[in-house]
Amino acid sequence: MKSPSQVLDPFFKALWPFFKSATRSFTDRRISLWFALVGLVVALLVTLVWLAGRYEASQYQAELDRDTVDAVSDIRRSLTNHSMNLQSLTARSLSAKHWRAEAEGLLSQHREWLRVERRGLQGLIIEHASSPFREPLFDGITRLHEQVEITQTCTRAKRLNGPAYSRTYFVPQANGLGFEVMEMCLPKIEQGATVGYTVLTYSLQDILASQLGETYGRRNEVSFVEPDGTRLAVYGSLPRGKRFFSATQLMNLPGNTLVLRMDGRRAGPDLFPNVLPALVTAMSIALVSVLVLLVKDSRRRLKAEQDLADALAFRKAMEDSLVTGLRARDLKGRITYVNPAFCQMVGFEAEQLLGASAPMPYWPTEMVGEYQRRQAVRLAGNAPPREGFESVFVRQDGSRFPVLIFEAPLINAVGKQTGWMSAFLDISEQRRVEEMSRASQERLQATARLATVGEMASLLSHELNQPLAAISSYATGSLNLIDQHQSLADQPGPSALSDLHMAFERIAAQANRAGKVINSVHDFVRRRDQDREAVSPRAIIDAVLPLVQLQARKLNVRLSIQLDDKLADVVCDRTMVEQVLLNLARNGMQAMDHPQCLNRVLTLHVKRAASNKAQGWIEFDVIDLGIGISDEISQNLFTPFFTTKAEGMGLGLSLCRTVVEQHGGHLEFEPNLPGGTLFRFTLPTQA
Ligand code: ADP
Repeated sequence: MKSPSQVLDPFFKALWPFFKSATRSFTDRRISLWFALVGLVVALLVTLVWLAGRYEASQYQAELDRDTVDAVSDIRRSLTNHSMNLQSLTARSLSAKHWRAEAEGLLSQHREWLRVERRGLQGLIIEHASSPFREPLFDGITRLHEQVEITQTCTRAKRLNGPAYSRTYFVPQANGLGFEVMEMCLPKIEQGATVGYTVLTYSLQDILASQLGETYGRRNEVSFVEPDGTRLAVYGSLPRGKRFFSATQLMNLPGNTLVLRMDGRRAGPDLFPNVLPALVTAMSIALVSVLVLLVKDSRRRLKAEQDLADALAFRKAMEDSLVTGLRARDLKGRITYVNPAFCQMVGFEAEQLLGASAPMPYWPTEMVGEYQRRQAVRLAGNAPPREGFESVFVRQDGSRFPVLIFEAPLINAVGKQTGWMSAFLDISEQRRVEEMSRASQERLQATARLATVGEMASLLSHELNQPLAAISSYATGSLNLIDQHQSLADQPGPSALSDLHMAFERIAAQANRAGKVINSVHDFVRRRDQDREAVSPRAIIDAVLPLVQLQARKLNVRLSIQLDDKLADVVCDRTMVEQVLLNLARNGMQAMDHPQCLNRVLTLHVKRAASNKAQGWIEFDVIDLGIGISDEISQNLFTPFFTTKAEGMGLGLSLCRTVVEQHGGHLEFEPNLPGGTLFRFTLPTQA
């Protein structure tokens, strides 16, 4: 099978490279578009996941910030409460014993309190009490190292008329550890004047533990830090986790500013920390899956499109290369499709034909009625004969031509008839060839006949010489007899008259015979155009007999004519059949014209065909005792112009077979044992 590009017409071939390059660039562009889409989707998904992670982190950071602010305000509130608790201790002038008892009571309520001191206006310690939860922090009563700091703080408290806080400092312990502590000084005011102070020492770590431990300390690490980041006190521990978050908040106290820092960690996978990113990721996976499916689908569709384009190109090439005209009509008889061959056939453009309905522009005007009736029959659902039917169309230029039409119902994909499909063959060329071959066959026959006639003419001249010579000698004899009686001037006697009578009779007989010979030739030539007729086999034999006899006499052949009884008439072109018989008889006689052939008998036997009795065929056998036919010769026997004779034309047998077969019969031959050949042909009878 040829590929579409091989059978495309030149125009389409010229367009093909452009079409291909256009398709390729279109395909390239489509592929790069797909890549761009995939890239964009991937970028979008990555961004979404990243943003979701970021959002998550910012949420957590905001939460931590909020917690830090809350924590600072919690601490501040409790410090204020502490100062108020202490105020009750400070305001009253208690005895040393009572003061200590109350102070220890307060100390046992607050773990973060390390020590409470009652100081005089000069800053000297009057009473002090330590936390029952730990070893006393300072040795002895005097705290010389811290004195300066405490004095400054108390001065500030006096000035503020309220609590003031010292800077933090580290107090080492005997066990190698120590505390970061902060002092709070509360002035004792009596009648508007400061008369002494109460100093409270805080443990920073315990502030964190008692104030934030329960709430924030579980999830985070809380610490007080210096502005440079140095940690002063830490509580809680950092949970395990990859991502680290931190928030700081300033805590302004009168006389000191602390920085509270809260550190947290987030555990769990960063990619799917919670529902949102998980959702986004799931959607992304779904999106990518859909994308992959789309790509696959598009690839399949691309292939289908390619196949379809190939099939279309193939179909178009096939349609264009067809010489058969194609036309489709819908069920209302309107033309829905014509191929280029049909347009070329009728000389109209496809646009002029599409949509046209009866009467069609290519119908001869006088046939419109008949064609319309035919179309109505077709549209009523009657299928035309499968072998097609003939019709005549007229071209746009007015010339007419015969067409052979095949019609079939047009069935769509769901099996419903949507119209009729017709194929048209322009048979004008076929008609011309048929006519030519008929003419040439006729010419061939005429030539063969002429050859036979020429041969017969020479035989005639030979044969006519005999009766003419006989006539001439009888006439001469008769004249001599008359002259003899005239010179003797006597009346011819009865014997002379009977001689003359006999001579004239012979003259008449010979003239009659010559006339018959001439008539038989005349008949043979004259009857060539006659149609088939019923002829008795005997009449055929009788017609050829004079001519056969002529040659038989010349070649010294004896004729044996055998006709069965009650033979039916045969239906044939009489002249042609006579010629067949004549040819076969002549060939048989010529085959015996050989020195070896001593017994020269030609038998013409007419009988009912043994094998085809029922059908009523008559068989003509022409049997000679000649030299026979060798295998080599028998292969070419019926080939036109094959001859073994110097003066032969080689047309006789091929012509004979054509004639017999035209009558529906067959011509065959077989060896005639012990010598010679039997030619047999059959003809149909009238029955
Ligand atoms: P032609 O007689 O002009 O040669 P034919 O077609 O009649 O042409 O015969 C072809 C050849 O067939 C003859 O030349 C001859 O050799 C051979 N042939 C025909 N009939 C016989 C026969 N009865 N016996 C032997 N040979 C024959």
